[in-house]
Amino acid sequence: MGNPHIMKQIISYKNFPYKHLTTTKIVGNMRDKVLRDKFLLSLNLDPSNLILANQMHRNNVKVVNSFNKNTFIAKCDGLITADKNTMLGIFTADCIPLLMSIGNGEVKAAIHTGWKGIYLGIIENAVEIFHKDFSIKPEDIKAYIGPHIRSCCYDVNCDMEDKFNVELVNNKLDLAEIVRRKLQKLGINEIFDVKRCTFHEKDLFFSYRRNQCAERMLSVIM
Ligand SMILES: [Zn+2]
Repeated sequence: MGNPHIMKQIISYKNFPYKHLTTTKIVGNMRDKVLRDKFLLSLNLDPSNLILANQMHRNNVKVVNSFNKNTFIAKCDGLITADKNTMLGIFTADCIPLLMSIGNGEVKAAIHTGWKGIYLGIIENAVEIFHKDFSIKPEDIKAYIGPHIRSCCYDVNCDMEDKFNVELVNNKLDLAEIVRRKLQKLGINEIFDVKRCTFHEKDLFFSYRRNQCAERMLSVIM
């Protein structure tokens, strides 16, 4: 499925619906509006077209449109739209930025999920909205798994084994594998995983687990 495209400032996947990215820490804390706007403008993107979620580690996915531009949507961890004039963004620093889109980019979603959101069914909720609100079948959806804390570094308690029906190796949880399996079970087979770990790649990413940082990377789908 091709290779992820890694530059100093952003990571993206050539094959995934064209316009998307995850920032690296090189461009700084994307929660900071001044830095965020500066970064987007540097790519000729209009910051006022961005819609963000206030992210509470739950399972709500909300349908948004142009009226929501330049705002944070309350009480959700996922955004979905068919509005061409919008960009959807989410912040992460260890959690998974999961972007979804149909092939021509006309319906797109940005989802923030750690183990809790996955466990609570945020992926199923997103796929259901693609189907119910936009009549899109799972097999027409492509998914992008951005940088997050991977099985090399993600120590968890053994109760995760029951939660996700997995066997931990050295107490490490493989979130990407759980997401991949869930997506495939739902009928999504085109999955682009950048395979980067936020925890041990210190020069590239912020990691909450590494130092309880307040900084966040931004993932955007346009
Ligand atoms: Zn790692």
